[in-house]
Amino acid sequence: MTTATTAEAELNVVLEYCNDVRMAPIPDAGSLPEGFAGTLGHFPVYFPEEVAHAAGLLPVAVLGGGNRLELKHADARMGSFVCSICRSTAELGLNGSLQGLSGFITHPICDAAKHLAGIWARNFPEQLSQILYLPQNVNTPGAVRYIAAEFQRLRSELEKKSGRSVDDESLRRSIGIYNDNRRLLREIYALRRDEPWKLSCTESYLLTRARSRMPAEEHNGLLKRALDAARQRNLPAQDKPRVVFVGGFCEQPPIEMLEAIDSNCYVVDDDLLIGLRWLTQDVPEAGDPIWALAESFVERSAASPVQHDERKTKEGYLMEMIRSSKADAAILTAAKFCEPGLDEQIAWAKHLDNTDIQYLVLEFEEKMTSFEQMAMQLETFAESLLFAVAA
Ligand code: SF4
Repeated sequence: MTTATTAEAELNVVLEYCNDVRMAPIPDAGSLPEGFAGTLGHFPVYFPEEVAHAAGLLPVAVLGGGNRLELKHADARMGSFVCSICRSTAELGLNGSLQGLSGFITHPICDAAKHLAGIWARNFPEQLSQILYLPQNVNTPGAVRYIAAEFQRLRSELEKKSGRSVDDESLRRSIGIYNDNRRLLREIYALRRDEPWKLSCTESYLLTRARSRMPAEEHNGLLKRALDAARQRNLPAQDKPRVVFVGGFCEQPPIEMLEAIDSNCYVVDDDLLIGLRWLTQDVPEAGDPIWALAESFVERSAASPVQHDERKTKEGYLMEMIRSSKADAAILTAAKFCEPGLDEQIAWAKHLDNTDIQYLVLEFEEKMTSFEQMAMQLETFAESLLFAVAA
């Protein structure tokens, strides 16, 4: 077998494993990875996984129920106008799929997400149920101090829950493992930007998402294998427009939607699972680790519609994504009933109207099962972009 064929086979093995992990239940007490005493669920967008990791609680990103979950219980607890990820998360709790969690942490990113904590506390009193109050405004002088106090509170809660003390040294060790993970994820995105035919958006998504169910150290091994294989792939570059995809910061677009986009475009940057990639540089491994995480949240971080930062305006960070990835166009999406996402989508579209950058607006829902119409829209969009470039 040639090197490229071997690489293709290796990448397929890794991606199939990642897809199995995506569909798998959360690890129960009998199948916890070595060194972990429980699992801690966290809702999008950002959660400082290092603190749970150091406490021996496997951080498990709770990313909704996808398009195969039937809602039988959640509708009795939530309005039908609430976004799908909140309703399916409640359903996963109520149908027992998340009963093995030691705790569940959500964030005040919007009213719907904030109220999940109350639903959790009332229905699952045996689990730690908390809101991690990340600040709405990170531009005040006290922001880092405030976040550090909140992370310290989280550390104490998790110590109580796991019965394991989180000393600075173990927290620094976890930060080091996650720094490796951040570097590898940056390499994945750099590869997609530089040679997008070597790794599709769907493949990169599956690789990133695998961290939601496994220790970061195991994920690091997977990412290294995938990167080595993808770099050796022998695939020709195709005539496809380069686009950025935005709107996937919280509720997850169905895999079939990402595949439809990949069929027509090269997605050279996106905000999918941005919470798992929130810290954009290494977190300092010396000094106070809680302060280092808090400072990184403010000073070395990405952008999303649920975090207000005057240094990263809605239009500004989209334009920076387009510029740095040399994209020709943008796909502006929002999850149905997602107020922060829809708000951002309007601002993005209005801004792009004043530029010569083309865009396509799409709405999605995690439970979507029909993609024919969307595929047709994407095909038309991609063709119009190629004609515009050729003209
Ligand atoms: S998808 Fe939007 S509305 Fe729903 S929890 Fe996330 S940010 Fe809130």
